[in-house]
Amino acid sequence: MNEKLTDIFGIDVFNESVMKERLPKETFKALKKVMDKEQPLSLDVANVVANAMKDWAIEKGATHYTHWFQPLTGITAEKHDSFIEPASGGKILMEFSGKELIKGESDASSFPSGGLRATFEARGYTAWDPTSPAFLKEDAAGVTLCIPTAFCSYTGEALDKKTPLLRSMESISTQVVRILKLFGINDVSKVECSVGPEQEYFLVDHNKYMMRDDLIFAGRTLFGAPAPKGQELDDHYYGSLKERVASYMKDLNVELWRLGILAKTQHNEVAPSQHELAPIYATANISTDHNQLVMDTMKKVAKRHGLECLLHEKPYAGVNGSGKHDNWSLVTDKGKNLLDPGKTPNENIQFLLFLTAVIRAVDVHADLLRLSASNPGNDNRLGAGEAPPAVISVFLGDQLDDVVAQLVATGEAKTAKKSEKLDVGVKTLPRFSKDVTDRNRTSPFAFTGNKFEFRMVGSSMSIAEPNTYLNAIVAETLEEFADRLEAAEDFDTAVHELIKTELAAHERVIFNGNGYSQEWIEEAARRGLPNISCFIDAVEALITPKAIKLFEHQGIYSEAELRSRVEINYENYSKVIAIEAKTMIEMASRKYIPAVMKFVKNVADSVISVKNALSVADVSAQEEILSKASRLLSDAKKAMDNLSDGLARVSDISGAKETATYFRHEIVPMMDALRAPIDELETIVDSELWPVPTYAELMFEL
Ligand code: ADP
Ligand code: MG
Repeated sequence: MNEKLTDIFGIDVFNESVMKERLPKETFKALKKVMDKEQPLSLDVANVVANAMKDWAIEKGATHYTHWFQPLTGITAEKHDSFIEPASGGKILMEFSGKELIKGESDASSFPSGGLRATFEARGYTAWDPTSPAFLKEDAAGVTLCIPTAFCSYTGEALDKKTPLLRSMESISTQVVRILKLFGINDVSKVECSVGPEQEYFLVDHNKYMMRDDLIFAGRTLFGAPAPKGQELDDHYYGSLKERVASYMKDLNVELWRLGILAKTQHNEVAPSQHELAPIYATANISTDHNQLVMDTMKKVAKRHGLECLLHEKPYAGVNGSGKHDNWSLVTDKGKNLLDPGKTPNENIQFLLFLTAVIRAVDVHADLLRLSASNPGNDNRLGAGEAPPAVISVFLGDQLDDVVAQLVATGEAKTAKKSEKLDVGVKTLPRFSKDVTDRNRTSPFAFTGNKFEFRMVGSSMSIAEPNTYLNAIVAETLEEFADRLEAAEDFDTAVHELIKTELAAHERVIFNGNGYSQEWIEEAARRGLPNISCFIDAVEALITPKAIKLFEHQGIYSEAELRSRVEINYENYSKVIAIEAKTMIEMASRKYIPAVMKFVKNVADSVISVKNALSVADVSAQEEILSKASRLLSDAKKAMDNLSDGLARVSDISGAKETATYFRHEIVPMMDALRAPIDELETIVDSELWPVPTYAELMFEL
């Protein structure tokens, strides 16, 4: 990078400063009002903005534009249109109208709609989200102007992840503003939820990746014996970067900075060849867009470096998988973080009220949060002693835990534990204050100073849903609190009373201990906390009466939208497992089994030739290997046939839920049964004959 970082930051974004520079004053003012959600967008304004956007994009080499959206597949979608319009004399003009900016029509019948839209009425609309800036994307197709949009059906149902998120942001803002008024704060008109997602990922050599059908088709290894070394020495975590990885990260950062993404920290993660990138937090919808771009860019830049980026939650068995920590807080339009406890949280009633609201919301709707962090990939990770358990609990840290205990006991918190000076015992090192909360890495939902960190989310998932649900559940509780407090005669007494009773009712969800331990799982059961073990068991959290009431009341999802998402979740699960199962059969029948047969024949030949050469020779070693390999080969063949038969029976099942359940309870165990003998064979078969790169080669040879 020769340019200065300050010069390249955001140069591919049609951001506020570009708008200010390129739009007539009046238009800019009008657009600002739209962005601040104070007034709707008029076509006149849209026309002027579209024209300025087009000129800017064309100057930067763009030929096409696209409405960029986030369908329910969880990744982003785009359909490119060029700016060209025919003009007289066989020439063309480059045009882009306000109408084209605001609304796109996509015959998007192949996007999942979960029955919301029959294919014969395939119309879907994309609508510009002016709160998220347009940007340029450059790839082999050239430069494209990308316009972030929401995606809905002809009848207005949301077919994407962004629309409900935007709705939830309005909902929580409204309720927080009401609460603040009760505290005499009248100058706040909007509250944003701020989100900072930490993104974990693995890198693998492209050529080795191309030799593994499982990585290509499933994004994770479906076979593989453990390498002699895993992560036990903890020498990769925060270790110095390998040249190739460092050069990848450098390139990645530049790409992200150009897109105006505040990529801030990067480091090696726990598992070999695992890394993390965290941006500085932003407003939830922008952060969601950015995280999608981060994931896209990670993959794109990897290819340039002869690498592949794996975003799957569990690429390799036996070492840690990848997650995405979703850091969340509430910040007013005056810049105040409402989750900041200040120095004396025990006296900060306003903070304690918001804290109580989050605790209550998480307790009441733990099942929804669990679902928002569930996908087929994360099933391989949650609760496996490397990621949070499947039980949702809230970590507060010593200081707040103590404040809560005092409040529950007496209705008052007289003291707050202070942070101490940390003395490391070396005179030349500075002494500094310890944080009042230590980190608890095992908690699914941890208070970390001035924000909550939701740690269950899977690395490949969109953060739209976790944040939509979080906003929704906290908004619901705040609405109830506001109703009660507005009706109270004496606000002061009422707010103290409310905090005390609500904390007492929901303190069961607070847990500060080791979330990975078996004792906690037992204790959680005693406390009556839900322990939902897998994705498909979590799906119906969306259509419980309490969930339907929650989302409908706040206008975030209609019941039809919720039901469609249930269908899509089940279908998605079945499709993913089917692909994995078919990939396993393909690899077993065409790679592993032929290789093992060759090996078995070699050993058999060796037994015969050694015996021929010397009739009294001891061939017991060869015979042992031969008999073990033959037995495992036969086990593998049987397991493979069994899996094939299992897949053939899928067509007999009707119903999305029934099919997903069959995949979970019948097919997954059959897959495990096929993996076991092959992984064992990997440890005895001649490495020269082994048909695919091993774990050691994938993780350590970068
Ligand atoms: P850690 O690894 O300790 O969890 P990181 O620095 O890797 O910490 O990531 C913390 C993330 O939290 C960053 O994305 C950061 O911008 C974000 N963050 C910090 N403060 C807030 C806040 N008030 N609201 C939301 N996110 C925040
Ligand atoms: Mg974190």
